[in-house]
Amino acid sequence: MAEETIFSKIIRREIPADIVYQDDLVTAFRDINPRAPSHMLIIPNKLIPTVNDIEADDEAAMGRMFTVARKLAEEEGIAENGYRLIMNCNNHGGQEVYHIHMHLLGGRPLGPLLLG
Ligand code: AMP
Repeated sequence: MAEETIFSKIIRREIPADIVYQDDLVTAFRDINPRAPSHMLIIPNKLIPTVNDIEADDEAAMGRMFTVARKLAEEEGIAENGYRLIMNCNNHGGQEVYHIHMHLLGGRPLGPLLLG
């Protein structure tokens, strides 16, 4: 059984976070240390530690992460100019929180930005 991270507490609203979207499968909130004018994290409500742990049963939640990314980008007004979606995996990927999350970054030209 994987160990919970701070993100599980955010999903359950036990600690404060700027939650911008939540449904039965995913939660999205603003990154506490934004690297761009718009920087949000979209996460599955189920604890999946890394991309290596995604299973076939998780495909609905993984798909929902993309449709929510699209919706949030539109709402933020960054859809047309463009944005970047990033998922870091394990040490070499620069993953810090072991509950998978999709970074949604935009609001300025991102150049060669790497997160990690
Ligand atoms: P990663 O390096 O891909 O694991 O990214 C983890 C991200 O989580 C970083 O961008 C952090 O700024 C962000 N983060 C960590 N704790 C919180 C929190 N309590 N609320 C919002 N974002 C957080």
